[in-house]
Parts: sequence; C-alpha cells; structure tokens
Amino acid sequence: MSDNDNFRAEVAAWLEAHCPASMRRPITADEIIWGGSRLSFQNEDQRLWFERCRDRGWFAPGWPKEYGGGGLSPKQARIVEEEMTRLSCRQPQYNLGVWMLGPVLLEVGTEEQKREHLIPMMRGQQRWCQGFSEPNAGSDLASLKTSAKRVQDSEGEAYIVNGSKIWTSYGDQADWMYALVRTDASARKQQGISFVLIDMHAPGVSVKPIELISGKSSFCEVFFDNVRVPLRQLVGPEGEGWAVAKKLLQHERAAMSKFAEGGAPSHDALAVARPYLDEASPAQAAVWRDRLAAQLMDAHAFALTHQRVTAQAMARQDVSGPASIMKLVQTEQEVAKYELLVQIMGLRGLSWEGEDFSQLEHDICRQWLLTKTYTIGGGTSEVQLNIIAKRVLGLPA
Ligand SMILES: Cc1cc2nc3c(=O)[nH]c(=O)nc-3n(C[C@H](O)[C@H](O)[C@H](O)COP(=O)(O)OP(=O)(O)OC[C@H]3O[C@@H](n4cnc5c(N)ncnc54)[C@H](O)[C@@H]3O)c2cc1C
Repeated sequence: MSDNDNFRAEVAAWLEAHCPASMRRPITADEIIWGGSRLSFQNEDQRLWFERCRDRGWFAPGWPKEYGGGGLSPKQARIVEEEMTRLSCRQPQYNLGVWMLGPVLLEVGTEEQKREHLIPMMRGQQRWCQGFSEPNAGSDLASLKTSAKRVQDSEGEAYIVNGSKIWTSYGDQADWMYALVRTDASARKQQGISFVLIDMHAPGVSVKPIELISGKSSFCEVFFDNVRVPLRQLVGPEGEGWAVAKKLLQHERAAMSKFAEGGAPSHDALAVARPYLDEASPAQAAVWRDRLAAQLMDAHAFALTHQRVTAQAMARQDVSGPASIMKLVQTEQEVAKYELLVQIMGLRGLSWEGEDFSQLEHDICRQWLLTKTYTIGGGTSEVQLNIIAKRVLGLPA
C-alpha cells in the first residue's frame, strides 16, 4: 500500500468512528452550521461533528496548522475531502471566509491579517459576506462607486467608507465583509479599486434584507455611512484590489458547489417525474420521456467533464476557462431540469403551500424559482459566454 492509500484508510476509519450517523444524511438548508458570532447548534450531533472537525483543523485540512488548519499536503487534503464525500459526511461549517477569503489571505495577506482573521474562521467564530455588487455595478463590476478616502486620525491611518452594496448574501448574519471599494476616483476603472475587510458591527454600517421570489431571504442591501476601516484591513496594495478579487473569484465556484450541496438539494428528475408521467396521455408522456432522457445524458456528460477538469485542477493546470464552462453548463442544466419538471407536473408543480399538495410538490416549485438565481449569481450566463469566447476560444473582445 502507498503512503496515500494508508492515509486514506486512516481518514476513512476516523470518519467512520467520529462522524455521527445523523451527520451523514443529506443536509437541508435549515441544518447548515454557519460559523460566526451567532454560532448555534440544533442538537448534540451537530456540535460534536463541528468541534471534532475544528479540533483536527479539518475546516480547511490543507491550511497551515499555525492558522488553525490541518497542516496536510494538497494531496492529503484532497483525500480528506474525497473520503468525506464518499462517506456522505456533511460539511462541518459553511463559511465564505474559509472557502473564498482564506486562500487569498494565505497568499497575499499580511501576517497580522492572517492572525486576526484566519484563526477565528478556523474556530468557527467569524462569518463573512461578499461586498462586490452595487446597484449600478454587477456584471460591469469595475463601475463600482463605494468610496474609501484615506485619512489620518487620532487612532492612526484609516479609510472612511461611504456608499452601498447590493445582493449581499447573508449580509445580515455576517460579522465581516470583504469588499471592493474605490480609493482613487480619478484612476482608470480597475486601477482605482482596493480590497478591504470591513467589520459589519462598526458604527455606520446598516443592513436591509431583500425578499426573494423563492420565499427565502438571503439577500441584503448594505449601506456605509462614514465607516472607519483601519488601514491594516487593506488586502494587497492600495489600487490593486481588482487583482486580489480575481484571485478570490477563482475559489467562488468551489464555494458555490458547497452551497448547492446544502442550500439547494437537486432532485432526481426521473424519480420525481415518474408518477406524473404515468398519469399523462401516452403521446404526451412519450415527448416528456424523450426530453428527460436527453437531459439525463447531458447531466452524465457534464459529470464526466467535471471529473476531467477536477483532475486538471489537481495537476495545477489553469482551469479558469473550463471553470466558466462548468458554471455555465451546470447552472443552465439545473434551470432546464426544473423547467421540465414543472411542465410535467402541471398545476401540481406550481404549489406554494397548503395540504392539498405534497411536500415534494412545494419543494419543486420553490426550487424551480430558486434556480432562476443560479444563472445570475457568481457571474451571469452571458458574462460566462463572453469569458469563454475570449479566454477559451480566443475570439476578439
Ligand atoms: C444567488 C445570488 C447571490 C449573490 N450573492 C452576492 C454576494 O454575496 N455579493 C455580491 O457582491 N453580489 C452577489 N450577487 C450579485 C451578482 O454577482 C450579480 O447579480 C451579477 O453579477 C449580475 O449583476 P446585476 O444583477 O447587476 O445584473 P447586470 O449586470 O445589470 O446584468 C443584467 C443583464 O444584462 C446582461 N449583461 C450585462 N453585461 C453584459 C455583457 N457585457 N454582455 C452580455 N450580456 C450582459 C446580464 O447577463 C444580465 O442578463 C448575487 C447574485 C445572486 C443571484
């Protein structure tokens, strides 16, 4: 047996012994454990699983031990993730800080920033949100206007931040926000942008939730009114926040797939559709079966491509182009799947609440609405197509 095989066997044995059975069932959105100052558990199994992973540094197995990680090599960290997936162990903590900001701080953060933020993330004490989009800066993110003016006051050097962010997922629950702000209004678009870390409890920060059509309200508007951000919370050089954000976005897809795992269970289309197909006329059912079969084949082809791209990423090849293809195809497939399910279910696919409909019917309807966000969040489908045209196909801009 190779060292890696031995390590895999050890990991599997530890997981079998320490992951409670209830933490190996598919997670629902309500059962997600978010890190942060409002950390709470619904039961003892959740607490045990959280604390056991935390104590091993397995919120981020590949991070250095000095910052609370597991200190494992990239290959070993991957083995931990693979075994957790294989044994259906839940993510012990959901946290944008760990998934997206952390790797960036490890790469470009100061020692002070690493100590101030990575260790609390790894203890599950800091929850993060992303402050990029603004009312007139979504796809064209570099148009953002939230300003950060550098000042020297009695407490030292700082930025005074004014403006607002929109579509901030879970902004009302977060302790900290990583944000893009404009530190130089006269510089060309991208050049005047800096990447800063903002304490959501600081004076002058206010948050207003936005309701979604799916009934869930995870979005917020965040307003900054003369918010003081100490200079030590600037990540990377001033004016070079765009490059820092690009590094961070490389981790967004992985983060979104973890979200999908808990927040948005994807249904087995065939199992859902079967009883409704049995009730349909033979002619109609034949058409739907054809469309379902085509979707299942597409999904299978996608899964195989995904495996190939994952292998390329592990071999440290540049997968930024394929990542856009994956994002585009997966989200469009999910949208198409729920569109078809709702058509097959007819009126029963449009149920919101009430005892005349099953829980599954309510879930499908809400999920159908939620998929509308998939092709927007993390960059719209059109923007992905632009990236693919430019970076993958080499077409002129
Ligand atoms: C579920 C979800 C979670 C999100 N979470 C966050 C978050 O936590 N933090 C955050 O900062 N933001 C977040 N967002 C915001 C998201 O990043 C933006 O909605 C997205 O970038 C699109 O911007 P926009 O809404 O301003 O649309 P716009 O950019 O105004 O786009 C409108 C339409 O025009 C199209 N379009 C725009 N430019 C082009 C172009 N050049 N070529 C072709 N078509 C184009 C778009 O594809 C779209 O169809 C989230 C969004 C969603 C849906």
